[in-house]
Amino acid sequence: MAWRCTGRTNAELIANMSKHGIVNADRVATAMAKVDRANYVTRKADAYQDSPQPIGHGATISAPHMHAHAMEHLLPFLFPGAKVLDVGSGSGYLCAVLHHLVSFNGEAGKVVGIDHIPELVDWSVSNLKQDGLGDALQDKRIEVMAGDGRQGPYDAIHVGAAAPTLPHALVDQLASPGRMFIPVGTVSQQILQVDKDAKGNVTKRELMGVVYVPLTDVEKQKQGYY
Ligand code: SAH
Repeated sequence: MAWRCTGRTNAELIANMSKHGIVNADRVATAMAKVDRANYVTRKADAYQDSPQPIGHGATISAPHMHAHAMEHLLPFLFPGAKVLDVGSGSGYLCAVLHHLVSFNGEAGKVVGIDHIPELVDWSVSNLKQDGLGDALQDKRIEVMAGDGRQGPYDAIHVGAAAPTLPHALVDQLASPGRMFIPVGTVSQQILQVDKDAKGNVTKRELMGVVYVPLTDVEKQKQGYY
């Protein structure tokens, strides 16, 4: 069903995701409408296709319907002023959507993107600037860094690459309460929604089966992963 969401324009892509029940919250539709996917892909002609696309260095920009699912599930924790971590930020697309979700109504939220490929970090910064977010980068409402920039706790954590098992270092960085959306598994993967309640108790829920590129080492990724 998700693949049917392809549109001729950014607006049509989002309207199709709403029509098929993938985007439900108005806040998600509004934030996604502010981010032109054409600024975050290498082949502009495919920008509004509802599919993952290669962005070089063994990485892919996720399909729009997966970005939408991630935002819908994390939404209760994407309040004005929230602090959010995007692990494997790649193209920078989701940093932009997250920014529009947490910095509004005069509240400045914070989005930290981390990717272990420095070339992708540089490219994502230029994508974000092209998408009109130069000011947000300037005043650090969006920060994209290479490697490991862990400065939690975070209200919401999105992980854009599949971990073989749930990384405890990331669970530790979740705020109480907080929520993480993360693909976990090797051959077969599931999105886990990991919730930490106000007392620090952690619960996990499997949301859907997926195929993501792995959370890995730079060398393995350069060699084609395996
Ligand atoms: N969410 C992004 C990219 C998804 S592809 C987008 O939609 O554009 C997964 C990304 O995770 C790649 O950019 C890859 O370089 C990155 N990645 C993989 N392992 C990582 C690690 N250990 N630390 C940081 N980033 C990692």
